[in-house]
Amino acid sequence: MYRSYYSPAEWEKIIKFSEKKETPFLVVLLDRIQEKFEGFRKNFPQAKIYYAVKASPGREVLTLLRDMGSYFDIASIYELDQVLDLGVSPDRVSFGNTIKKAKHVREAYEKGVRLFASDSEVDIRHLAKEAPGSRIFFRLLMDAVTSDSDWPLSRKFGCQPRMLVELVSLAADLGLEPYGISFHVGSQQREIPAWDTAIAQVKSLFEQLEKQKIHLKAMNMGGGFPADYLIKSNPLSVYAEEINRYLSFHFGESIPEIYLEPGRGLTGEAGILVSEVVLISKKSRTDLKRWVYTDVGIFNGLMETIDESIKYPIYTEKDGENGDVILAGPTCDSLDIIYEHFKYELPLSLEIGDRIYWISTGAYTASYSAVEFNGFPPLKTYYL
Ligand SMILES: *Cc1c(COP(=O)(O)O)cnc(C)c1O
Repeated sequence: MYRSYYSPAEWEKIIKFSEKKETPFLVVLLDRIQEKFEGFRKNFPQAKIYYAVKASPGREVLTLLRDMGSYFDIASIYELDQVLDLGVSPDRVSFGNTIKKAKHVREAYEKGVRLFASDSEVDIRHLAKEAPGSRIFFRLLMDAVTSDSDWPLSRKFGCQPRMLVELVSLAADLGLEPYGISFHVGSQQREIPAWDTAIAQVKSLFEQLEKQKIHLKAMNMGGGFPADYLIKSNPLSVYAEEINRYLSFHFGESIPEIYLEPGRGLTGEAGILVSEVVLISKKSRTDLKRWVYTDVGIFNGLMETIDESIKYPIYTEKDGENGDVILAGPTCDSLDIIYEHFKYELPLSLEIGDRIYWISTGAYTASYSAVEFNGFPPLKTYYL
C-alpha cells in the first residue's frame, strides 16, 4: 500500500538499481530534491532559501542545490568546508548553529562568512571579537510549540524574549549588525499554527526594538517543513498559504525579509533505504508477534526511530495476508529496536533475505549513521 509514495517509474528505477547490491544502502532521487526546491521557491517567492546541510550533506545534493541558486545553513566549520569546496561563495552561507567555539567563529569569518545566529551573551561577545561587523540573527526560544512536532528541538536553542532584546542591544554596542530574529518551530512540524505563534512573538519583538531605535530587517522562519511519513502532512502549498496569511496579519504591508532553512522538507521524501531481512523469529511457540530483524537499525540509518518518533512507511515485494511484527536492527544493543509499540504489519509470507524498503528516508539517516558500531559500516548512499 505504501508503493504509492513513488511513481511506478521511480520504483522501477529504485528496484533495478538495487538488484544485485549488498544491502543496506540509501538511494537518493535527486529529481525529487529538485522538485521540492522548486516547490519552496514557487510557494515562498519572497524568501531566501538556506538549505540546512545536516539533513543530507552529500556532495551530489549540495551540488544540485548550488546550481539551483540555493543558500546554505551550516552548523560547523566542517559543513562550511563541504560547501565552500564546491565553489559556493561564502556570502551564500549562514552559520546557523548557536553553539560554536570562538576559534571556529574566527575560521568561518576568515573564510568569508558574515552571517551568524546567536542566542547567548558569551557567543555574542565571541562574534564581536572574532567576526567583527557581522550580521546577526537572534534565535528565539520556541519550547511551547516545538513539543507538538514529531522531532522537537526543545529548549536547547534560542533564548527568552527579554534576553533576546538585551542581546540585540549588546550586539549593536559591540559593533555587530543586528539583522533579524530567527526561530525553529520543531522538525516535522505538522501543526501549521506553530508558525502563527512564532511570527506573533517576532512582531512584538520588532516593535519593542523599534522603540530602542533598532530596526531589524529580517525574520528567519527556520525549518520544520514536513516530509510524508506513515502519517501524511498538509502539502507545502497549504503551509505557504497559511504562513503568508500569518505574515500579512501580523506585519501588514511591512513584512520583513524572509529566510527559510528547510532540511527535511527538501530531502526527506527523496530517499529510500533498501534493507534485507536477516532473521525472523518468535520468543515462544505461542508468540503473537514475529520479530523481524533487518540489516538496518538505529545505528546505521534509522536513528530518528528512537522513541518511535518518525514512523517510516515500509514496503516489501511480498504480498498476501499481513501479521503484526516487531522490527529491530542487527546490532547487539537492546536500544536497536526500531518499532515495538506502534503496530507495524508485514506479510506472513515474508522470508529471510527478502528486501524491505524504507520510504521517505532521505533526511537525517545516512548522516546519523554510526562509524562502526559492532563493526557495521556506515550507511552507503547512492544518488540517482
Ligand atoms: C536542523 C535545522 C534546520 C532544518 O530543520 P528541518 O526541520 O529539517 O527542516 C533548520 N535550521 C536550523 C538552525 C537547524 O538546526
